[in-house]
Amino acid sequence: MNATICFIGAGNMAKSLIGGLLSSGYATSKIIATDPTEAQRQALTQHFGIHSYANNAEAAVLADIIVLAVKPQLLRVVCNELKDALTDKKRLIISVAAGIRSEDINHWLGGAQPIVRTMPNTPALIQTGASGLYANPAVSTDQKSQAEHIMRAAGLAVWVDEEDQLDTVTALSGSGPAYYFLFMEAMEEYAQTLGLDAKTAHLLTMQTALGAAKMVMESHQDCQTLRANVTSPNGTTERAIQHFEAAGLKQTVGGAMQAAYDRAKQLA
Ligand code: NAD
Repeated sequence: MNATICFIGAGNMAKSLIGGLLSSGYATSKIIATDPTEAQRQALTQHFGIHSYANNAEAAVLADIIVLAVKPQLLRVVCNELKDALTDKKRLIISVAAGIRSEDINHWLGGAQPIVRTMPNTPALIQTGASGLYANPAVSTDQKSQAEHIMRAAGLAVWVDEEDQLDTVTALSGSGPAYYFLFMEAMEEYAQTLGLDAKTAHLLTMQTALGAAKMVMESHQDCQTLRANVTSPNGTTERAIQHFEAAGLKQTVGGAMQAAYDRAKQLA
């Protein structure tokens, strides 16, 4: 792939995608970015050696693919700035903005625009993200591959067929890192109640989370099987699992995800 990619807004998410693309061998000359903040533009040149621009429309016309990476509340204004530069309707637009529907982006850009909307998550900032991707009907097969290539620079990229499914992605992987942080926080705290110092509790909690995730990813066994394998009859793990089940852990997780899903629908 050697399309020119223009990032509109060079904050955390854009820098993470740019860093991932460059470390996978993408040509420096094929990536450009815009930002109104001079310090951000200087950082791009210093860290990545890419060209940066203060004017969104001026940069967008130089690119084949435009990644909208500004805060959601700024997207409408940015689309208005870009509208006149995108009249040929050939360029692929990728939006990473949370909660803004592709239909709205398409409308703001004057219609008939190929748009991929993605829902990344925070670990994308360390190239370990999980993104859901939705393509509107104007996106070609080649453009879908290009969008996937770009989002893979930040981790896993998975397509959904319906845009509404991105609300489920939001409730799962979008908000999901915080669910694990909360669980880890609870484990760390109670390990201290049971006598460990804070640092030891923290180290063992982190490594346990990492080990469990790697086992699921590398063993090709499902979570239930892996759990059964480590749950000896009448052992310590069994006692803990019985407690979780009696306390309704799965219902609690389901309720939390439903709440996140409902909120995602409200925000869109
Ligand atoms: P950020 O604030 O770090 O970056 C936004 C950048 O846009 C800033 O550098 C800002 O100077 C620039 N900007 C402001 N106005 C602009 C304009 N008119 N034209 C061009 N650039 C402009 O934000 P972020 O965390 O990188 O988030 C960017 C998008 O990614 C958001 O829409 C957010 O919903 C989405 N997202 C972020 C994360 C995450 O973990 N950070 C996760 C999922 C989705």
